[in-house]
Amino acid sequence: MIDYRTGCPDAQLEPPEDTRIIADVCCMCGYEIPAGVEYYDIHGDAVCDECGREYLRKHRKADYYER
Ligand SMILES: [Zn+2]
Repeated sequence: MIDYRTGCPDAQLEPPEDTRIIADVCCMCGYEIPAGVEYYDIHGDAVCDECGREYLRKHRKADYYER
C-alpha cells in the first residue's frame, strides 16, 4: 500500500540568514540588523536593541558632564 499523505514534502524551512535583507548595521557592535527587526535610530546612528540602553546611558552621561 502507498500512503499518499507522505508524498508531499513538509513546508520548507526559512531561508538562511545570509539571504535576508540587512536593514542597517549597529554603530556600537557592528551587528547587521535584518530588515523587520526593531532597532534604535538615534541622530542617524543605527543601534541594535541590545546596545540601545548602553548607547542612551552614554549620551545621558555626556549631557550630564557637559554642564
Ligand atoms: Zn549593537
